[in-house]
Amino acid sequence: KNLKKHFVTDKGWLGKPKQLVKAVDGVTLTIREGETYGLVGESGCGKSTTGRLIMQLLDPTDGTIVFQGEELSSLSREQLQRTRKDFQMIFQDPYASLNPRMTVKEIIAEPMRIHGYHYEQGEEAKIDELLGLVGLPIQAKGKYPHEFSGGQRQRIGIARALALEPKLIIADEPVSALDVSIQSQILNLLKDLQERLGLTYLFIAHDLSVVDFISDRIGVMYLGHLVEEGTREELIENPKHPYTKALLSSVPTPDPRAKKERIVLQGELPSPSNPPKGCPFHTRCPFAWSDCEIRKPQLQKSGTETHYTACHLLDAE
Ligand code: SF4
Ligand code: MG
Repeated sequence: KNLKKHFVTDKGWLGKPKQLVKAVDGVTLTIREGETYGLVGESGCGKSTTGRLIMQLLDPTDGTIVFQGEELSSLSREQLQRTRKDFQMIFQDPYASLNPRMTVKEIIAEPMRIHGYHYEQGEEAKIDELLGLVGLPIQAKGKYPHEFSGGQRQRIGIARALALEPKLIIADEPVSALDVSIQSQILNLLKDLQERLGLTYLFIAHDLSVVDFISDRIGVMYLGHLVEEGTREELIENPKHPYTKALLSSVPTPDPRAKKERIVLQGELPSPSNPPKGCPFHTRCPFAWSDCEIRKPQLQKSGTETHYTACHLLDAE
């Protein structure tokens, strides 16, 4: 709720002044049990920071995280420690996130040991089960990460994330480092695991076609703000925000269901250390008018109970 992450940059080279970066600037979203919430936007829009805030890897400047009805900041240290195992992360680069000196068995067992998590069936049997779930052979246990392909490494990362039976998995660009042919295998695996284990995902990606494939609902971020949110169908077939429309027009294989209104993004993403006043998108929006430079649009219901958009054009509808 109203999550913010502002930070001051280190004093730059050549005496550049310190700058206030508003990486995440007031994001409110709800992830429902059993769903996949896709968070999409260009790199630097704050989507990874939002994921890290929810993971409690970063402290928010402002805002709260409510998990199963409880505000995390109100929990005691022990309670928070117990809750931590309910949140697991899958990273973009499985190679960088796997310790090269540990065997697959040690990698998957590590979270169980850290959290003192014991399964009745025993650690060994649990690891075998996890390997089976992600489609790796039992013999993988004694091997090291470098002995696997990128897709297989991501399977190891997924097995590790599942080791503590988490309630929420935050996947940050989990397929963007993989070949396209491997991407769909991993996406299908994630979908399959969700069905079998009742998992909940926050799926972060810059690629709208990937988010379209996997998500139940989608949120679009721009410069630290959520600018549109809706069901997958609403977002893809009936986008309302000019930025979402622009993202959709840049998808290389156009979705035939999408209403094609071609909007080409002008210019660069402005720096979050010097964000535009008013609507954060006004410097690149083909529909911007004077009001957009002054007033910041708030998310408002646009058409249905589930579709929200932050754009002044909606006031005119
Ligand atoms: Fe464009 Fe104005 Fe809407 Fe922002 S509020 S997206 S600048 S039309
Ligand atoms: Mg990122």
